[in-house]
Amino acid sequence: MTTSTFNLLVTPSATILSDAQRAERMSKLTFGRTFTDHMVVIPYRDGTWQQGEVKAYGPLSLDPSASSLHYGQAIFEGFKAFAQPDGGVKTFRPEANGERFNRSAKRLAMPEIPVELFLKAADELICLDRAWVPQNIGESLYLRPLMIATDPYLGVRPSNEYLFVLFASPAGAYFPKGVKPVTVWISEDYVRAAPGGTGEAKCAGNYAASLVAQAQAQEKGCDQVVWLDAVHREYIEEMGGMNLFFVYQEGGKTVIVTPELTGTLLPGITRRSLLELAKDLGFEAQERKLTVQQWRDDIAAGRMTEVFACGTAAVITPVGEVKANGFEMRINNGENGPVTMALREALLSIQHGSAPDTHGWMHTV
Ligand code: PMP
Repeated sequence: MTTSTFNLLVTPSATILSDAQRAERMSKLTFGRTFTDHMVVIPYRDGTWQQGEVKAYGPLSLDPSASSLHYGQAIFEGFKAFAQPDGGVKTFRPEANGERFNRSAKRLAMPEIPVELFLKAADELICLDRAWVPQNIGESLYLRPLMIATDPYLGVRPSNEYLFVLFASPAGAYFPKGVKPVTVWISEDYVRAAPGGTGEAKCAGNYAASLVAQAQAQEKGCDQVVWLDAVHREYIEEMGGMNLFFVYQEGGKTVIVTPELTGTLLPGITRRSLLELAKDLGFEAQERKLTVQQWRDDIAAGRMTEVFACGTAAVITPVGEVKANGFEMRINNGENGPVTMALREALLSIQHGSAPDTHGWMHTV
């Protein structure tokens, strides 16, 4: 593929919302329900990415025999664009999402997309739909890239044709009434990912398989599921659609610990960023295995003082209560902890441009 094919054809929507209509929609945002005027579509066939297009957001036309509908060759990503104090817009580590997208593609036997094209698609869409980028702290424009297999063929084999799609959704503050800790349910009846499976890929099927476990967590009065490893059923992996961190106070030191990447959990970009950011705040950061029993013992002994989850959508969410078959425990009295809130503030400040981007994470659109 030559660089010139990275140029996207732009066909502006004939029905762009008026400023007043857009303002009305943006005044009551529910995550993932409002979409901007345009989307990007790039087809893949004959072994290469074809001319891509930015066009009006709308339904896709798919053959009922399209293989993604049957065998789940479908992957996606999620990242955010933030309004900056100087009036510009920046996205947070989009190339990391492009790279993870390609690792997911590889695992699902799908073609990789040049990261340069992935970035270009997002930049063009954001520029065209610039008016949809919310302005307030905590708000953002959520970008959703995805790829589906479109071969009209019922044989079980990798598709020959694919469609890359990227669209955007303005997102309000995740905690409009202030940050509030969640209650989690440790799932023993279900597993999310097994060694050799697709746990570290962001593929659609992983999320379909998590829904009954999430429903069970809600029946138990919890907000989210905590997944354990599939083999020993004792190591903590991650939480719903977020990675977990455990905060320790050890001999005057603050240490944040997150489960190491074993191939069965999603390598979160927020997780990776916090491991680096922790050091800026004077905290030590470790990636290692942690069992449920250690979690219980360390809370009981007062060594572990806070627990939080992190991901693109909520940035950082404190965990205030843990429930499982046979035990319950509260963490930090069910309140927001100082280390959790300091890391949250530090990351949000970089994203919103109120702190210097010393790690070079922000991409100018
Ligand atoms: N784990 C899972 C299963 C997820 O879906 C996500 C969201 N992408 C995360 C963790 C957090 O990843 P990130 O920080 O890249 O959003």
